[in-house]
Amino acid sequence: MMESWQKLLSNSVVKVEDLPFVQNDPSYLRKLKRVSESYPIRINDYFLRQIKSANDPLWKQVVPSPEELDDFFSEEELLVSDPLNEEGDMPVPELVHRYPDRVLLMVNNHCPIICRFCTRKRKIGFPGIVTRETLRGGIDYIRRHTEVRDVVLSGGDPLLVPDKEIDRILSDLRSIPHLEIIRFGTRVPGTLPQRITEELCAILKNYHPIYFNMHFNHPSELTPEVETALRMLADAGIPLGSQTVLLKGVNDDSKIMRELMLKLLKNRVKPYYIYQADMTEGTNHFRTTVEKGLEIIADLMGHISGMAVPYYVIDAPGGGGKVRLLPDTVIERNENEVVIKNFEGKLFRYPQPARKNGHPASPKNKTPDLCQIS
Ligand SMILES: *Cc1c(COP(=O)(O)O)cnc(C)c1O
Repeated sequence: MMESWQKLLSNSVVKVEDLPFVQNDPSYLRKLKRVSESYPIRINDYFLRQIKSANDPLWKQVVPSPEELDDFFSEEELLVSDPLNEEGDMPVPELVHRYPDRVLLMVNNHCPIICRFCTRKRKIGFPGIVTRETLRGGIDYIRRHTEVRDVVLSGGDPLLVPDKEIDRILSDLRSIPHLEIIRFGTRVPGTLPQRITEELCAILKNYHPIYFNMHFNHPSELTPEVETALRMLADAGIPLGSQTVLLKGVNDDSKIMRELMLKLLKNRVKPYYIYQADMTEGTNHFRTTVEKGLEIIADLMGHISGMAVPYYVIDAPGGGGKVRLLPDTVIERNENEVVIKNFEGKLFRYPQPARKNGHPASPKNKTPDLCQIS
């Protein structure tokens, strides 16, 4: 008999006094307590049990660090509470309309765990932000805007909403003829897998096409319980994707990322994005250089199945949207040829096709010299 997710959630650690492994260090605890007054703590009972030691990769994602307050008092104003200017792109409360054909709708503002690096640190875990009214307003907005064909349900975590309410939200959304795709942006499958029940899967199945974009940062999150949840979702016909945040000290390492991506793929999850960490106040200690991200992507591309390689993106500060970054694969490009670099670092020349009215790129009588040049 599986434990109920409601019980695991209500048994969350929400106070520093209940954190594991640090109770013998009162001065450290006092510091963490100050942090928790600005940014709440939540570690549900399932996730807590997966933490094996202080400072392991799971611990770092959920236990506050004294460094979170450094950004508050820093002179620089680089880091802000809403780095992606989501509030500026909300035509109605709690709905972000940034791209032409899709919107992000916050369904609640609670999560199975509170991630210390959260881009919505300003909202998560505080009461009264997302309400029945904002949700209704968001759904009405989608109904009025026929250009919206794709909605990302987010929050918070949309799967912390009770089954009956999920059923109602999906049924309301499905009554909108121009809305084609409904996606869930959720960290539940990897952090509270008991929430994925047969009952939930039966509800979701009624509203296809439903997509999931989940959040996984470290291979140790893929426990047997999580693998079961993923199997149930995939068997319900839901295409599964995963998003990962590049985090210093957690997964800023090619070997770890490679293991994570391969493990996801094996569980029928397609790695979708690796995010460069946003410039969110209180999260600076997690940021890595962009070179590190490019290095990791270069270490994945070509070396493992292409299906296991996500896009590496920066969500442009100030609200420009996601921008994909690639390691330099085009070394040279002109009207006659391009020089490209493969995964082993070898260079190849690719002649352009001859242009009709211009000078021929490569003479007809000569086979193009499609060869490795270094
Ligand atoms: C990421 C995001 C989406 C979805 O973008 P895709 O690239 O299609 O996955 C939509 N709206 C907002 C505000 C987003 O941040």
